[in-house]
Amino acid sequence: PPADFSPTLDEARTLLERVWGHADFRGLQASVIQEVLAGRDVLAVLPTGGGKSVCYQVPAILRPGVGLVVSPLIALMTDQVEALKQQGVAAARLDSGLTMDERSAVWRAARSGELDLLYVSPEGLASGAMLERLAELPISLIAIDEAHCVSQWGHDFRPDYRTLGRLAEIFPRVPRIAVTATADARTRDDILASLKLGEARVFVDSFARPNLQLTAERKVNGSRARTDARVVELVRERRGRSGVVYCGSRDGCERVADALRDAGTNAIAYHAGFDARERDRRLERFLAEDGAVMVATIAFGMGVDKPDVRFVIHADPPGSLEAYWQEIGRAGRDGEPAEGVTLYGPSDIAWSLRRLDGRPMAEEVKQVQTRKVRQLFAMLDGATCRPQAVRRYFGEQDAQPCGVCDVCGDPPATFDALVPAQKALAAVQRLGERFGRTRVIDHLMGRTKDVQPWEAGLSTWGVGADLSLIGWRDVIDHLMFEGLLVEDPNEGKPLIRLGDPQAVRAVYRGEREVRVKEPPTRAVALD
Ligand code: ADP
Ligand code: ZN
Repeated sequence: PPADFSPTLDEARTLLERVWGHADFRGLQASVIQEVLAGRDVLAVLPTGGGKSVCYQVPAILRPGVGLVVSPLIALMTDQVEALKQQGVAAARLDSGLTMDERSAVWRAARSGELDLLYVSPEGLASGAMLERLAELPISLIAIDEAHCVSQWGHDFRPDYRTLGRLAEIFPRVPRIAVTATADARTRDDILASLKLGEARVFVDSFARPNLQLTAERKVNGSRARTDARVVELVRERRGRSGVVYCGSRDGCERVADALRDAGTNAIAYHAGFDARERDRRLERFLAEDGAVMVATIAFGMGVDKPDVRFVIHADPPGSLEAYWQEIGRAGRDGEPAEGVTLYGPSDIAWSLRRLDGRPMAEEVKQVQTRKVRQLFAMLDGATCRPQAVRRYFGEQDAQPCGVCDVCGDPPATFDALVPAQKALAAVQRLGERFGRTRVIDHLMGRTKDVQPWEAGLSTWGVGADLSLIGWRDVIDHLMFEGLLVEDPNEGKPLIRLGDPQAVRAVYRGEREVRVKEPPTRAVALD
């Protein structure tokens, strides 16, 4: 049998030390690299900041030929290529930003065997011309970065990624490595199927982020000014530290940045409304200036590697648990203590769902995305340790309570709200799903002004005298967070309707637990 001339892990370690200055591999890096060095396919799911790039850069340098890296964003590609060049690695990129001359120079370098790493965009690869030219090169490995972009079940689907499955046929003997920070079991299966990685070994690192202290806080409903003020207060308490404040819209982003600047914070707004040059300038400032706070939409994020971000605040919640974990994961990349604070309210879940509704996507995909939104809010409004809840969602069933999040620090008392939930759901149903929250509560409490006989005759009329007004608000909000009720914006006069029918049925039958956080000042006598 032929001797195994694969580079060894020791050689890999020496290279890691020489080029990157890291003493040793961490987490699953060594196992992943060993597989790739041996020429086998891999899917590596490592948390943000876990050092995914080294997993393909090291083997690309050690194996003969050029390593092809597919990366979704030009900015990300540019950063990595520049960093590698500075470290003395022969890296180049082929993207739409290059002149003809620059492109020719890259191809020349690739053909002459000078390059260790060549970064390409998925759009570039989707064009047959580039593939033909690549097929003539000795390729050492193919790395697919941010591999969750291939999956519609992920939160960042990019249609161009779909064509990457063809690489399996064009380069049958080249090892391929897909890396991502976010993949629940379903996304993972989809990545393996779409990229034709059937034989790949799958590595999933723990998603624990022990240096992060997480908190979720309910907003005062409907009061933007109060939310802005709360954000200012939270940032003030962290004065002098570098952080990121995520906002759901460009307007919100400008507004919060203004409020923070008025309060004396070095706040920088960042969103897709600025052109690429202006965004770069703002990013530079954030990286360079001490205690700068980036106030950003999700246009800011992927690939930003600032190690000393001390806090991430969500002025508006993200769209899924994956996005949540990725965004709070931008804090504390240096391993030092950092915080994540998420503000959320019932109008946020309504807004997230509405936004999904407006998107052109297959019904099945929409349903999955809708469920993701609900799962996020159920976590935020839940009484389970934050990291434990998220890690279980990612498939780490044995994840233990973190001990430091708001829930662990001060476990909220909950009460069994099954019966109130049944009453609320029945009331919404009997009332024909035609009313808003206040009106439904009045009905439950038997307080509807000038009540008409048809309403007073319903079996749900006045059955809710055992809870206070605040108690009912909390129950109904929680049912919305759990997806049992949904708010229909109805052009500014929101009504509530029943949510997922299966879940609603489970509550009626008493098969699903409903626990609501205290204090809803409970069961006081109502005159
Ligand atoms: P990811 O892409 O997984 O978010 P990166 O590849 O950008 O992470 O790496 C995150 C940071 O961790 C970088 O600053 C990188 O240099 C550093 N890093 C990677 N591997 C190691 C290691 N073995 N030891 C120490 N630091 C590492
Ligand atoms: Zn905890």
